[in-house]
Amino acid sequence: MATYEKVLVAVDLSSESDVVLQKAMQISDPDAELNLVYVQEPMDNVYVGIVPQSAAFSGLGDLEAQLGEELKEKLAALGKKFDLPEDKLHILHGSPAHEIHRFAETYATDLIVIGTHGQKGLQLLLGSTANAVLHGAGCDVLSVRIGTE
Ligand code: AMP
Repeated sequence: MATYEKVLVAVDLSSESDVVLQKAMQISDPDAELNLVYVQEPMDNVYVGIVPQSAAFSGLGDLEAQLGEELKEKLAALGKKFDLPEDKLHILHGSPAHEIHRFAETYATDLIVIGTHGQKGLQLLLGSTANAVLHGAGCDVLSVRIGTE
């Protein structure tokens, strides 16, 4: 059976990332190329629709850059823990599902691995990052169940 050769592992850098990455490594060929991806969402994306033109937005750029540095360090620590080369660690900017799809297409990825919390009720209707990635992906997607709810 053919195995996956180019794998994108999407992590949110929470403590759950280990579980997602571990599973990706278990099911991938030892020679597979594993790309670890975190997407930093622009802060104004999140708030501008709610409080447009707020004075609080000035200086957001600096804050975002600072945050970016900290996220980079977290991703580097995760990569080191799992022995991944630095050039396979990626911080992208934008909307997570969109950027994950774009990366997967650009690098001819054949599997995306993502975490999922067994959603129910309203949460299920509203969707999640995993749902958004699944719909519209041009390759296989493995959603790794996190938690026991
Ligand atoms: P969520 O549905 O947002 O709780 O996230 C579920 C999974 O989506 C996480 O375990 C990650 O695999 C992925 N994910 C969430 N946010 C991001 C992000 N900003 N960058 C990359 N992957 C993410």
